Amino acid sequence: MSVHKCLYLGPYVECTYKPATRVRDVWGCTLPECKRHPKKIQPDAEGKFCSTCGMANGKIPIQVNDRPDRYDVVGDELFQIESSDPANKDVLWLAPNVRRKGDPRPKWDDDGEIHLDLVNANPQQEMDWFEKAFAKELEKLRKVYATVTVCWGLHQYFM
Ligand SMILES: [Zn+2]
Repeated sequence: MSVHKCLYLGPYVECTYKPATRVRDVWGCTLPECKRHPKKIQPDAEGKFCSTCGMANGKIPIQVNDRPDRYDVVGDELFQIESSDPANKDVLWLAPNVRRKGDPRPKWDDDGEIHLDLVNANPQQEMDWFEKAFAKELEKLRKVYATVTVCWGLHQYFM
């Protein structure tokens, strides 16, 4: 197994989740006092009866966080900048996965060496372009996530 180190520099959008929950069923002991009665999401129990108390197993509704999958919202048009750092578990970073008209970002998508002179970098111009070029996607994101903020910066991440 190899780990691929990735760099992204440019405009991206930071989304935070709404504190929403939905109900998911877990198969487990129906007796509330039993230690095998599910109180949070856990692997389904096996069989028709509880292996501890003998009571019938059944579907127990559990409240879980409802976090929309960005793929269901924007498809492939934006890619997710992955983070395995627990400090980032409540944010979602998305960056352009396609080039659109007027893209001011330098081309450095290959695996070659990079020397990028940033003296004339214009983050505001790139953020303005991103807002316009991906207006449709940002509108969809704003309907689903709690906050949607266009940012500009550097990410190093691993895939
Ligand atoms: Zn039981």
